[in-house]
Amino acid sequence: MSFDLLNDDIKRLVERAFDDAVRYRRQFHANPELGYQEFKTSAAISTYLEELGYEVQTGLAGTGVVGVLRGTQEKPVIAFRSDMDALPILEKTNAAFASQNENVMHACGHDMHMGTLLGAAKALSLIKDQIPAKIKLIFQPAEEMLCGGRKMVEDGALKNPDVDFIYGFHVWPDLPLGTIGFKGGPIMASMDTFQVTLKGRSGHGAQPHQGIDAIIGGAQILTALQSIVSRNTDPLDSVVITVGTFTAGDGFNIIPETAQFNGTIRTLSKETRNRVENDFRRIVNGIASAMALEAEISFSSDYPVTINSFEHAEHAGNLAAELFGEKAVEHLEIPSMGSEDFAYYLENVPGSFMFLGVKDDQGGAYKLHNDHFLPEEEAMKYGMSLYIALALNPYSN
Ligand SMILES: [Zn+2]
Ligand SMILES: [Zn+2]
Repeated sequence: MSFDLLNDDIKRLVERAFDDAVRYRRQFHANPELGYQEFKTSAAISTYLEELGYEVQTGLAGTGVVGVLRGTQEKPVIAFRSDMDALPILEKTNAAFASQNENVMHACGHDMHMGTLLGAAKALSLIKDQIPAKIKLIFQPAEEMLCGGRKMVEDGALKNPDVDFIYGFHVWPDLPLGTIGFKGGPIMASMDTFQVTLKGRSGHGAQPHQGIDAIIGGAQILTALQSIVSRNTDPLDSVVITVGTFTAGDGFNIIPETAQFNGTIRTLSKETRNRVENDFRRIVNGIASAMALEAEISFSSDYPVTINSFEHAEHAGNLAAELFGEKAVEHLEIPSMGSEDFAYYLENVPGSFMFLGVKDDQGGAYKLHNDHFLPEEEAMKYGMSLYIALALNPYSN
Protein backbone atom coordinates (compact mmCIF):
# COMPACT_ATOMS: atom_id res chain seq x y z
CA MET A 1 0.00 0.00 0.00
CA SER A 2 1.54 3.29 -1.07
CA PHE A 3 1.17 6.60 0.63
CA ASP A 4 0.59 8.59 -2.55
CA LEU A 5 -3.02 9.53 -1.98
CA LEU A 6 -2.20 11.79 0.88
CA ASN A 7 -3.12 15.43 0.72
CA ASP A 8 0.17 17.15 -0.23
CA ASP A 9 0.65 19.57 2.66
CA ILE A 10 -0.11 17.01 5.30
CA LYS A 11 2.08 14.50 3.49
CA ARG A 12 5.03 16.89 3.59
CA LEU A 13 4.46 17.57 7.27
CA VAL A 14 4.31 13.87 8.08
CA GLU A 15 7.53 13.27 6.17
CA ARG A 16 9.24 16.01 8.21
CA ALA A 17 8.10 14.48 11.50
CA PHE A 18 8.28 10.79 10.65
CA ASP A 19 11.96 10.24 11.59
CA ASP A 20 11.20 11.40 15.13
CA ALA A 21 8.13 9.17 15.30
CA VAL A 22 10.24 6.15 14.28
CA ARG A 23 13.07 7.07 16.64
CA TYR A 24 10.74 7.28 19.64
CA ARG A 25 8.82 4.16 18.65
CA ARG A 26 12.08 2.17 18.60
CA GLN A 27 13.42 3.75 21.78
CA PHE A 28 10.22 2.85 23.64
CA HIS A 29 10.08 -0.61 22.10
CA ALA A 30 13.64 -1.32 23.28
CA ASN A 31 12.93 0.05 26.77
CA PRO A 32 9.41 -1.10 27.66
CA GLU A 33 7.97 -0.36 31.10
CA LEU A 34 4.97 -1.91 32.87
CA GLY A 35 1.86 -0.03 34.01
CA TYR A 36 2.50 2.84 36.45
CA GLN A 37 6.25 2.28 36.05
CA GLU A 38 6.63 4.22 32.79
CA PHE A 39 9.23 6.56 34.36
CA LYS A 40 11.79 6.77 31.52
CA THR A 41 9.06 6.71 28.90
CA SER A 42 7.22 9.56 30.57
CA ALA A 43 10.40 11.61 31.06
CA ALA A 44 11.33 11.25 27.36
CA ILE A 45 7.84 12.34 26.31
CA SER A 46 7.69 15.41 28.55
CA THR A 47 11.19 16.53 27.51
CA TYR A 48 10.35 16.23 23.83
CA LEU A 49 7.01 18.04 24.17
CA GLU A 50 8.74 20.89 25.99
CA GLU A 51 11.32 21.12 23.20
CA LEU A 52 8.46 21.40 20.72
CA GLY A 53 6.94 24.31 22.68
CA TYR A 54 4.07 22.52 24.41
CA GLU A 55 2.93 23.54 27.90
CA VAL A 56 3.60 20.32 29.77
CA GLN A 57 2.01 18.93 32.91
CA THR A 58 3.41 15.77 34.52
CA GLY A 59 2.49 13.54 37.44
CA LEU A 60 -1.13 12.81 36.50
CA ALA A 61 -1.95 9.22 37.50
CA GLY A 62 1.71 8.99 38.54
CA THR A 63 3.54 8.83 35.23
CA GLY A 64 0.98 10.52 32.97
CA VAL A 65 1.92 13.50 30.77
CA VAL A 66 -0.31 16.16 29.24
CA GLY A 67 0.91 18.68 26.65
CA VAL A 68 -1.06 21.68 25.42
CA LEU A 69 -0.45 23.50 22.14
CA ARG A 70 -2.19 26.83 21.54
CA GLY A 71 -3.47 27.34 18.02
CA THR A 72 -5.23 30.46 16.80
CA GLN A 73 -8.39 29.91 18.89
CA GLU A 74 -9.18 29.07 22.51
CA LYS A 75 -11.97 26.71 21.49
CA PRO A 76 -12.52 23.91 20.74
CA VAL A 77 -10.01 21.98 22.83
CA ILE A 78 -9.23 18.76 20.97
CA ALA A 79 -7.52 15.94 22.85
CA PHE A 80 -5.51 13.09 21.37
CA ARG A 81 -4.56 10.18 23.62
CA SER A 82 -1.86 7.51 23.68
CA ASP A 83 -1.17 4.86 26.28
CA MET A 84 2.42 4.14 27.42
CA ASP A 85 2.57 0.77 29.18
CA ALA A 86 4.03 -2.57 28.07
CA LEU A 87 3.19 -6.16 29.02
CA PRO A 88 4.90 -8.88 31.08
CA ILE A 89 5.87 -10.91 27.99
CA LEU A 90 9.25 -12.27 26.84
CA GLU A 91 9.80 -10.77 23.39
CA LYS A 92 10.54 -13.24 20.58
CA THR A 93 10.95 -10.90 17.63
CA ASN A 94 14.41 -10.52 16.12
CA ALA A 95 14.09 -6.77 15.81
CA ALA A 96 17.29 -4.73 16.10
CA PHE A 97 15.38 -2.64 18.65
CA ALA A 98 13.90 -5.60 20.56
CA SER A 99 13.20 -5.25 24.27
CA GLN A 100 16.22 -4.92 26.53
CA ASN A 101 14.07 -5.50 29.62
CA GLU A 102 13.61 -9.21 30.17
CA ASN A 103 9.99 -10.35 30.31
CA VAL A 104 8.67 -6.91 29.40
CA MET A 105 7.49 -6.19 25.87
CA HIS A 106 5.48 -3.66 23.90
CA ALA A 107 3.30 -6.47 22.54
CA CYS A 108 0.13 -4.37 22.37
CA GLY A 109 1.60 -1.65 20.13
CA HIS A 110 1.56 1.16 22.69
CA ASP A 111 5.07 2.02 21.40
CA MET A 112 3.41 2.68 18.03
CA HIS A 113 0.71 4.78 19.69
CA MET A 114 3.36 6.96 21.37
CA GLY A 115 5.46 7.23 18.18
CA THR A 116 2.37 8.25 16.21
CA LEU A 117 1.28 10.87 18.73
CA LEU A 118 4.78 12.31 19.18
CA GLY A 119 5.20 12.49 15.40
CA ALA A 120 1.87 14.31 15.19
CA ALA A 121 2.98 16.54 18.09
CA LYS A 122 5.99 17.67 16.10
CA ALA A 123 4.00 18.23 12.90
CA LEU A 124 1.35 20.25 14.78
CA SER A 125 4.01 22.39 16.48
CA LEU A 126 5.25 23.39 13.00
CA ILE A 127 1.81 24.64 11.91
CA LYS A 128 0.33 25.89 15.16
CA ASP A 129 -0.52 29.28 13.63
CA GLN A 130 -2.86 27.43 11.24
CA ILE A 131 -4.72 25.34 13.83
CA PRO A 132 -8.14 26.83 14.73
CA ALA A 133 -8.23 25.07 18.10
CA LYS A 134 -6.27 24.23 21.20
CA ILE A 135 -4.64 20.80 21.13
CA LYS A 136 -4.18 18.65 24.21
CA LEU A 137 -2.04 15.54 24.05
CA ILE A 138 -2.68 12.94 26.74
CA PHE A 139 -0.11 10.22 27.46
CA GLN A 140 -1.51 7.84 30.05
CA PRO A 141 -0.03 4.99 32.07
CA ALA A 142 -1.39 1.52 32.71
CA GLU A 143 -3.98 0.82 30.02
CA GLU A 144 -3.50 -2.94 30.47
CA MET A 145 -5.89 -3.97 33.26
CA LEU A 146 -4.90 -1.21 35.67
CA CYS A 147 -7.36 1.56 34.75
CA GLY A 148 -4.78 4.29 34.05
CA GLY A 149 -7.42 6.11 31.99
CA ARG A 150 -9.73 6.37 34.99
CA LYS A 151 -6.94 7.85 37.11
CA MET A 152 -6.05 10.35 34.38
CA VAL A 153 -9.65 11.56 34.29
CA GLU A 154 -9.76 11.73 38.11
CA ASP A 155 -6.52 13.71 38.10
CA GLY A 156 -8.01 16.27 35.72
CA ALA A 157 -6.60 15.29 32.31
CA LEU A 158 -9.82 16.52 30.67
CA LYS A 159 -9.88 19.81 32.62
CA ASN A 160 -8.10 23.13 32.40
CA PRO A 161 -8.30 23.61 29.50
CA ASP A 162 -11.56 21.67 29.34
CA VAL A 163 -11.54 19.14 26.53
CA ASP A 164 -14.40 19.37 24.01
CA PHE A 165 -13.69 16.11 22.22
CA ILE A 166 -11.11 13.36 22.16
CA TYR A 167 -9.65 10.90 19.65
CA GLY A 168 -7.35 7.93 19.97
CA PHE A 169 -6.08 4.91 18.07
CA HIS A 170 -5.30 1.31 18.74
CA VAL A 171 -3.11 -0.55 16.25
CA TRP A 172 -5.26 -3.35 14.84
CA PRO A 173 -3.84 -6.52 13.29
CA ASP A 174 -7.25 -7.57 11.96
CA LEU A 175 -7.19 -4.64 9.51
CA PRO A 176 -4.65 -4.32 6.69
CA LEU A 177 -1.84 -1.74 6.84
CA GLY A 178 -3.09 1.34 5.03
CA THR A 179 -6.62 1.21 6.44
CA ILE A 180 -8.32 2.72 9.47
CA GLY A 181 -11.42 1.29 11.14
CA PHE A 182 -14.28 3.57 12.21
CA LYS A 183 -17.50 2.92 14.08
CA GLY A 184 -20.11 5.08 15.79
CA GLY A 185 -21.64 3.74 19.01
CA PRO A 186 -20.04 0.91 20.98
CA ILE A 187 -16.66 -0.11 19.54
CA MET A 188 -15.24 -2.12 22.46
CA ALA A 189 -16.87 -4.02 25.31
CA SER A 190 -17.00 -3.40 29.04
CA MET A 191 -14.80 -5.56 31.21
CA ASP A 192 -15.73 -6.79 34.67
CA THR A 193 -13.84 -9.43 36.62
CA PHE A 194 -15.07 -11.76 39.33
CA GLN A 195 -13.63 -14.10 41.86
CA VAL A 196 -15.84 -16.55 43.78
CA THR A 197 -15.03 -18.77 46.75
CA LEU A 198 -17.44 -21.57 47.66
CA LYS A 199 -17.27 -23.09 51.09
CA GLY A 200 -18.71 -26.48 52.06
CA ARG A 201 -17.44 -29.16 54.43
CA SER A 202 -14.62 -31.58 53.79
CA GLY A 203 -15.04 -35.29 54.26
CA HIS A 204 -14.16 -38.78 53.08
CA GLY A 205 -14.73 -39.51 49.41
CA ALA A 206 -16.53 -42.73 50.35
CA GLN A 207 -18.95 -40.96 52.73
CA PRO A 208 -20.19 -37.99 50.65
CA HIS A 209 -23.26 -37.52 52.82
CA GLN A 210 -21.05 -36.44 55.70
CA GLY A 211 -19.49 -33.56 53.76
CA ILE A 212 -20.72 -30.69 51.59
CA ASP A 213 -19.04 -31.00 48.20
CA ALA A 214 -17.75 -27.65 46.87
CA ILE A 215 -16.88 -29.19 43.47
CA ILE A 216 -20.36 -30.45 42.64
CA GLY A 217 -21.96 -27.15 43.59
CA GLY A 218 -19.25 -25.22 41.75
CA ALA A 219 -19.74 -27.28 38.60
CA GLN A 220 -23.48 -26.53 38.61
CA ILE A 221 -22.83 -22.84 39.06
CA LEU A 222 -20.36 -22.72 36.15
CA THR A 223 -22.83 -24.46 33.86
CA ALA A 224 -25.73 -22.25 34.94
CA LEU A 225 -23.72 -19.04 34.44
CA GLN A 226 -23.71 -19.68 30.67
CA SER A 227 -27.50 -19.49 30.70
CA ILE A 228 -27.10 -15.75 31.35
CA VAL A 229 -25.77 -15.54 27.80
CA SER A 230 -28.06 -18.11 26.19
CA ARG A 231 -31.35 -17.50 28.07
CA ASN A 232 -31.33 -14.09 29.78
CA THR A 233 -29.72 -12.00 27.03
CA ASP A 234 -31.44 -10.80 23.86
CA PRO A 235 -29.97 -12.99 21.08
CA LEU A 236 -29.16 -9.80 19.14
CA ASP A 237 -27.21 -8.33 22.05
CA SER A 238 -23.77 -9.72 22.99
CA VAL A 239 -22.38 -10.96 26.29
CA VAL A 240 -19.30 -13.02 27.11
CA ILE A 241 -18.89 -14.82 30.42
CA THR A 242 -15.58 -16.65 30.65
CA VAL A 243 -14.52 -18.61 33.70
CA GLY A 244 -10.75 -18.74 33.34
CA THR A 245 -9.81 -20.72 36.44
CA PHE A 246 -11.51 -23.28 38.65
CA THR A 247 -9.51 -24.77 41.47
CA ALA A 248 -10.57 -27.24 44.13
CA GLY A 249 -9.46 -30.37 45.86
CA ASP A 250 -6.32 -32.04 47.17
CA GLY A 251 -6.88 -35.76 46.65
CA PHE A 252 -8.99 -38.26 44.74
CA ASN A 253 -10.77 -39.58 47.85
CA ILE A 254 -11.39 -36.30 49.66
CA ILE A 255 -14.50 -34.16 49.47
CA PRO A 256 -13.03 -30.67 49.19
CA GLU A 257 -14.17 -27.97 51.58
CA THR A 258 -13.65 -25.09 49.15
CA ALA A 259 -13.62 -24.30 45.46
CA GLN A 260 -12.58 -21.06 43.77
CA PHE A 261 -13.17 -19.73 40.30
CA ASN A 262 -12.50 -16.46 38.56
CA GLY A 263 -13.20 -14.96 35.18
CA THR A 264 -14.37 -12.01 33.15
CA ILE A 265 -17.61 -10.58 31.77
CA ARG A 266 -17.90 -8.48 28.60
CA THR A 267 -20.98 -6.54 27.47
CA LEU A 268 -21.83 -3.79 24.98
CA SER A 269 -24.12 -1.51 27.00
CA LYS A 270 -24.47 -0.15 30.50
CA GLU A 271 -27.96 -1.67 30.87
CA THR A 272 -26.80 -5.14 29.87
CA ARG A 273 -23.75 -4.81 32.06
CA ASN A 274 -25.83 -4.02 35.17
CA ARG A 275 -28.36 -6.73 34.41
CA VAL A 276 -25.64 -9.37 33.89
CA GLU A 277 -24.01 -8.51 37.21
CA ASN A 278 -27.38 -9.01 38.96
CA ASP A 279 -27.97 -12.31 37.12
CA PHE A 280 -24.46 -13.44 38.04
CA ARG A 281 -24.95 -12.74 41.74
CA ARG A 282 -28.40 -14.36 41.79
CA ILE A 283 -27.20 -17.57 40.12
CA VAL A 284 -24.05 -17.92 42.24
CA ASN A 285 -25.86 -17.20 45.53
CA GLY A 286 -28.98 -19.16 44.59
CA ILE A 287 -27.26 -22.38 43.53
CA ALA A 288 -24.74 -22.16 46.35
CA SER A 289 -27.59 -21.85 48.81
CA ALA A 290 -29.49 -24.74 47.20
CA MET A 291 -26.37 -26.88 47.54
CA ALA A 292 -25.77 -25.80 51.18
CA LEU A 293 -22.59 -23.94 50.23
CA GLU A 294 -21.52 -20.49 51.32
CA ALA A 295 -20.53 -18.19 48.47
CA GLU A 296 -18.23 -15.20 48.68
CA ILE A 297 -18.28 -13.04 45.56
CA SER A 298 -15.70 -10.41 44.79
CA PHE A 299 -16.84 -8.43 41.74
CA SER A 300 -14.83 -5.67 40.12
CA SER A 301 -16.28 -3.30 37.48
CA ASP A 302 -13.14 -2.49 35.53
CA TYR A 303 -13.66 -0.89 32.10
CA PRO A 304 -16.90 0.66 30.84
CA VAL A 305 -18.10 0.08 27.27
CA THR A 306 -16.11 2.25 24.83
CA ILE A 307 -18.87 4.22 23.10
CA ASN A 308 -17.97 6.52 20.22
CA SER A 309 -20.02 9.52 19.25
CA PHE A 310 -21.57 8.82 15.81
CA GLU A 311 -20.79 12.38 14.70
CA HIS A 312 -17.10 12.29 15.64
CA ALA A 313 -16.57 8.83 14.20
CA GLU A 314 -18.15 9.96 10.95
CA HIS A 315 -16.16 13.20 10.89
CA ALA A 316 -12.88 11.33 11.37
CA GLY A 317 -13.89 8.75 8.73
CA ASN A 318 -14.67 11.50 6.22
CA LEU A 319 -11.29 13.15 6.82
CA ALA A 320 -9.56 9.78 6.36
CA ALA A 321 -11.42 9.26 3.07
CA GLU A 322 -10.26 12.69 1.87
CA LEU A 323 -6.69 11.96 2.91
CA PHE A 324 -6.23 8.40 1.70
CA GLY A 325 -9.26 7.57 -0.46
CA GLU A 326 -12.37 5.57 0.37
CA LYS A 327 -10.58 2.24 0.20
CA ALA A 328 -8.55 3.12 3.29
CA VAL A 329 -11.71 3.55 5.35
CA GLU A 330 -13.16 0.47 7.03
CA HIS A 331 -16.67 0.95 8.37
CA LEU A 332 -16.76 -1.58 11.19
CA GLU A 333 -20.10 -3.33 11.45
CA ILE A 334 -19.57 -4.93 14.82
CA PRO A 335 -17.61 -3.98 17.94
CA SER A 336 -14.72 -5.92 19.40
CA MET A 337 -15.45 -7.80 22.65
CA GLY A 338 -12.01 -6.67 23.84
CA SER A 339 -11.91 -3.72 26.27
CA GLU A 340 -10.09 -0.44 26.46
CA ASP A 341 -9.84 2.24 29.12
CA PHE A 342 -10.31 4.98 26.50
CA ALA A 343 -13.90 4.34 27.61
CA TYR A 344 -13.32 6.54 30.68
CA TYR A 345 -12.57 9.60 28.54
CA LEU A 346 -15.62 8.94 26.38
CA GLU A 347 -17.81 8.76 29.48
CA ASN A 348 -16.92 12.43 30.02
CA VAL A 349 -16.51 13.97 26.56
CA PRO A 350 -17.58 12.87 23.08
CA GLY A 351 -15.07 11.59 20.57
CA SER A 352 -13.94 8.57 18.67
CA PHE A 353 -11.63 5.64 19.22
CA MET A 354 -10.29 4.19 15.98
CA PHE A 355 -8.46 1.09 14.80
CA LEU A 356 -5.21 1.66 12.89
CA GLY A 357 -4.65 -1.21 10.46
CA VAL A 358 -1.23 -2.88 10.77
CA LYS A 359 -1.77 -6.31 9.25
CA ASP A 360 1.01 -7.21 6.81
CA ASP A 361 2.86 -10.42 5.92
CA GLN A 362 5.48 -9.94 8.64
CA GLY A 363 5.38 -8.77 12.27
CA GLY A 364 2.03 -7.04 11.85
CA ALA A 365 0.39 -10.37 11.03
CA TYR A 366 0.60 -11.51 14.65
CA LYS A 367 -2.18 -10.67 17.07
CA LEU A 368 -2.07 -8.20 19.98
CA HIS A 369 -0.19 -9.58 23.01
CA ASN A 370 1.64 -12.13 20.84
CA ASP A 371 5.38 -12.34 21.60
CA HIS A 372 6.15 -11.86 17.86
CA PHE A 373 3.87 -8.83 17.33
CA LEU A 374 5.90 -6.15 15.52
CA PRO A 375 3.89 -3.83 13.27
CA GLU A 376 5.47 -1.78 10.46
CA GLU A 377 6.12 1.87 11.25
CA GLU A 378 4.51 2.87 7.93
CA ALA A 379 1.17 2.53 9.74
CA MET A 380 2.10 5.49 11.96
CA LYS A 381 1.93 7.78 8.90
CA TYR A 382 -1.78 7.11 8.62
CA GLY A 383 -2.36 7.87 12.29
CA MET A 384 -0.18 11.00 12.21
CA SER A 385 -1.97 12.29 9.11
CA LEU A 386 -5.39 11.80 10.61
CA TYR A 387 -4.39 13.52 13.87
CA ILE A 388 -3.14 16.49 11.83
CA ALA A 389 -6.33 16.59 9.74
CA LEU A 390 -8.48 16.41 12.90
CA ALA A 391 -6.56 19.34 14.39
CA LEU A 392 -6.89 21.44 11.24
CA ASN A 393 -10.59 20.60 10.76
CA PRO A 394 -12.30 20.63 14.18
CA TYR A 395 -15.67 18.95 14.28
CA SER A 396 -18.55 21.39 14.46
CA ASN A 397 -22.27 20.76 14.25
ZN1 LIG B 1 -3.28 -4.86 25.30
ZN1 LIG C 1 -3.39 -2.00 23.95
